[in-house]
Amino acid sequence: MRGLILNQTADGKTVAEIKTIDEAQLPQGEVTIRVNHSALNYKDALAVTGKGKIVRSFPFVPGIDLCGEVVASQDSSFTPGQQVIATGWGIGEKHWGGYAEQARLKAKWLTPLPTKLNSLTAMTLGTAGVTAMLCVNALQDNGIDPKRGKVIVSGASGGVGSIAVKLLAARGYEVVAVTSPQGQNLVKDLGAQECIMRTEMTSQHRPLESAQWAGAIDTVGGKVLGRILAEAQYGGVIAACGLVGGFKLETTVMPFILRGVRLIGIDSVYVNSQARVKLWHQLATELNEDFINSLATVISLQEVPSYCERMLKGETVGRVVIDLQK
Ligand code: NDP
Repeated sequence: MRGLILNQTADGKTVAEIKTIDEAQLPQGEVTIRVNHSALNYKDALAVTGKGKIVRSFPFVPGIDLCGEVVASQDSSFTPGQQVIATGWGIGEKHWGGYAEQARLKAKWLTPLPTKLNSLTAMTLGTAGVTAMLCVNALQDNGIDPKRGKVIVSGASGGVGSIAVKLLAARGYEVVAVTSPQGQNLVKDLGAQECIMRTEMTSQHRPLESAQWAGAIDTVGGKVLGRILAEAQYGGVIAACGLVGGFKLETTVMPFILRGVRLIGIDSVYVNSQARVKLWHQLATELNEDFINSLATVISLQEVPSYCERMLKGETVGRVVIDLQK
């Protein structure tokens, strides 16, 4: 089978090449899957380019997300022919992932593909969809309903951001998008009522600015998250999931002690299996196929390294999906 293999040179550089892989090389796991589609997440781009220390053992097949058909299973919960999704759990980081024609995974990592989705639409959502849904649910579960006021989403034209904008708009929220000139049209089409350029959000600000946001979904971190905190309304809730603008957070205690702002961390990697079934059901019912397809740029395995570079430069919009048959 073909796969994208990462190796490391003696001087520590990561090299990505398409190679033939023998099935015997696949790692241990109860279920073998023929991969139809995978996807490109920001963390995959860090892994493939070696710009982030994501992968620590080589040779390695990256790819955090995959969807395909069960070929063989030693676990009675899954049968050959069944369509399954896998995202997170260390797949593509510690365990060989979706950038090969076959994968072998633990049964507990698999979610049956909901009937309303197919392999392409499931991977257009992928980790980004699961994370966006976790963020939106975190706001709602913490009392931020549409009546409370505006919700700001950063990195709004990216994978997580674009799906979050759509989900929020569909649930009736007034959405403000932090984006770039190339992302503006997309986020407005998704339902954002206002756009703020990234550059405005990184300028100097006071510990507390005028209170604007009832809620926020932040995929950027760094200065942008610092500013969102300073602009949060009394009792505001911020779901933080990303770091494309930097992992450091410069803030003060003021938003927390004077406005009761709550900062909630979101992790999609180790969400339990039962919660995943519910999240995928919500994604499949709240988002329609036409919308999901409009987000996808479908590429081949060969194109992965160049798209990783583009993603790290902030030049991709929506979701990049890999068709293993292409
Ligand atoms: P994408 O690359 O698809 O989207 C990121 C978006 O952020 C870009 O499209 C761009 O949107 C904006 N952006 C890019 N560079 C910068 C920059 N330097 N400063 C500010 N904004 C920038 O990535 P994903 O949506 O896949 O992931 C987003 C973040 O969320 C990543 O940090 C990722 O690691 C994290 N993540 C976390 C998960 C978790 O479980 N916690 C799961 C999935 C992702 P625009 O042009 O609209 O500004």
